[in-house]
Formats: sequence, C-alpha cells, structure tokens
Amino acid sequence: MQLVETSPQHEEGARIMTICNACRYCEGHCAVFPAMEKHLTFDASTIEYLANLCHQCGACFQHCQYAEPHEFAVNVPDTFAAVRTSSYVNHIWPGMARPLVRHGRTFSFVSALLATTAFSIGVYLEHGGQVFSRSHDSFYEVIPHGVMAGTFSLLGVAVLLVWTMSLVRFWRILGLPSAFFIDRQTYVRALKSMLTLENLGGGHGKGCYQHGERASQIKRWFHHLTMYGFLLCFAATSLGTVYHYVLQFPAPYDWLTGPKLLGTLGGVSLLFGSAGLYWSRRQTTPEIDTEDHGMGVSLIVLLFATSLSGLALPLLKDSSWLVVALCLHLGIVVAMFTCFAWGKFMHGMYRAVALIKSEHDELP
Ligand code: SF4
Ligand code: SF4
Repeated sequence: MQLVETSPQHEEGARIMTICNACRYCEGHCAVFPAMEKHLTFDASTIEYLANLCHQCGACFQHCQYAEPHEFAVNVPDTFAAVRTSSYVNHIWPGMARPLVRHGRTFSFVSALLATTAFSIGVYLEHGGQVFSRSHDSFYEVIPHGVMAGTFSLLGVAVLLVWTMSLVRFWRILGLPSAFFIDRQTYVRALKSMLTLENLGGGHGKGCYQHGERASQIKRWFHHLTMYGFLLCFAATSLGTVYHYVLQFPAPYDWLTGPKLLGTLGGVSLLFGSAGLYWSRRQTTPEIDTEDHGMGVSLIVLLFATSLSGLALPLLKDSSWLVVALCLHLGIVVAMFTCFAWGKFMHGMYRAVALIKSEHDELP
C-alpha cells in the first residue's frame, strides 16, 4: 500500500539522493548519508525518512561541488526542509487540520487572541470590571486553580491524542516494526542523539554551517537552551501539581521552592534560547532558508512570549496590570498548546522517529 503520495518535493529529493549516492563525499557529515547508502532507489517514504533525519546543519551544502552554479544544483538542506514541511502537513491528524498547519502564523496569532479574549471575558463575568484595576495576592483569586488545571489538562490530553495518531502514521510510513520489538539500545542511542543534537555537529563536532562557510555551535547552544528551558518549565509545572494535590501546598510559592526555582531557571533559559534561535534564523544563508508556512517563527515567538509573560507575572503581583498579564499569559500558553499539536513542535517527534529508525537499521 502506498502510504505517501509522491510530490514534486519527493521527486527532487530522489534526484538529489541519486547524485549523492554516487558521490558520497559527505558520508561522515551526519546520519543522513549512511542511511542513504542503504538504498539504491528512493521512493517517497524513504525521502520522508531521510528528510526528517536531516538537522539542517548546512554542512553538505557548503561542501558540495555540485551545488549551484553547477548544473546538478544539489541543495540537500533546502530540498529536505521542503519535504519535512510537507510531511508535517500531510501526516497531521485529523486531516481536516491541514489548513491550520499551512497558515501557521495566522493560526498561532488567532489562537492567542481568542484564548486571551475568552479568559478576559470569563474574569470580567466572574468578578466584574474592578478586578482589572487592583492587585491580588494569588493568581487563583482571579482564575480558580480548577479552571486553569481543567483547561490545560484537557488541552494536554488533546495534544497527546494528536501526537499519538500522527506518530503512529509516520512510524508506519518509515516501515518500523512494533515499538515493543525494538531493542532498548536503539532507544537509548536515539535519545542520546536527540539530547546532544549530535547531527548539528557537522561531522567533526565543531558545529553547523547555517550562517555560512565557518562551522559554529551557536544554533546548537540556542536550541539546547530552548529545549532544556522548556523541559525545566514542564518539570516546574509537574512539581507544582504534586505540591498542590499531594502535599496540599497551593501556590503562590516563595522564590526558594522547587517549582519557583525550576520555573524561573527554565523561563530564563527559554527566553534566551528562543531569542537566539530567532536571531539564528535571520542570519541563515538564503540558499538554505526554506519557507515553512511560518511554522518555525510561530513556535519561536510563542515560546519567547510564554517565557517573557510567565517571568513577568510574579513581578506584577502587586500591580493592577496583573490580571491583564495573567489573561495574556494563559492565552499565549493555549496558542502554544495548539502549536504543539498542529505546528512546528511536531518536528521533534518526527525527527525522533527517524533517529530511532536510523539506529534500528544500524544494528546487526
Ligand atoms: S551534497 Fe554534494 S558533495 Fe555531498 S554527497 Fe551530495 S553531491 Fe556529494
Ligand atoms: S544534517 Fe547537515 S549534512 Fe546532514 S543532510 Fe542535513 S544539512 Fe546535510
């Protein structure tokens, strides 16, 4: 059964991989080329696999003797970025969400606006207009803990469902066996690759070539700040849930408590990481700066806005701006959840599956 319809992007990917497979100059650069060498022909599923294994480091483009102005016009990162974007659109669940992915920027902006408006109207209806012009000791005086926890638990379950359905589809496209039949060592090696971003090392470990001919670790470090900042924020929220429900210790927390420390550290890391990734994108060599329906920028802006508004909240505790800032923060977080499900956040999931396949195929 044909699981992926062949598109012009797949055909271009197959053309380029056929040239690379004859050349093999870049085989030490990343996981893509050793995976490519296991194939003689490249159908659409194989191109999707290789494209999602590519980390867009730019090394093969900078080192390619067949890049433009050569008539072969080989440009692996640009071609694979276009294939990846089409894979995020085509394999999303449910299929009717595809227009949301194709209009990433508008979707994120409208989600944030609608959610902020909904929270503001809810607060106004519950407390009246005066609530906006005075300070509060706790966020839960403005929006009850149950409303916040219920809203984000429901969104979390919806996101998990979308991830599961999309990932099962991509797993089948890549032809992987059942997850239970895959060796533990494969998962460990794929996880290590994800956590260290070793495929952004350019093959020599000195970094990627996103900004030109010189290798640099800057994109890798900004990505690390963003990813680990996000994980710290997630840990802070999880710990806060334990404090609230298990230890019966509700927020607000002092600065020297676990949730506050993790949240602040994560928020600062996320703030600098996402700002750095935005800067890094702006510096990208034009030839490999591929349009992705605004998905990448939307995710970066949402992560930045979430961390900035989250860090501002405790500082505004005694201010009449607190309620406005809280509604805005929660609205941005709702938009971020929609981006997790139907936006660029999926790139981490698809890349994880591609890395699992790469490690799985390497084992004897
Ligand atoms: S990107 Fe260029 S140099 Fe590298 S393997 Fe392909 S054709 Fe050869
Ligand atoms: S990860 Fe880098 S070297 Fe490997 S295919 Fe992608 S751009 Fe080329």
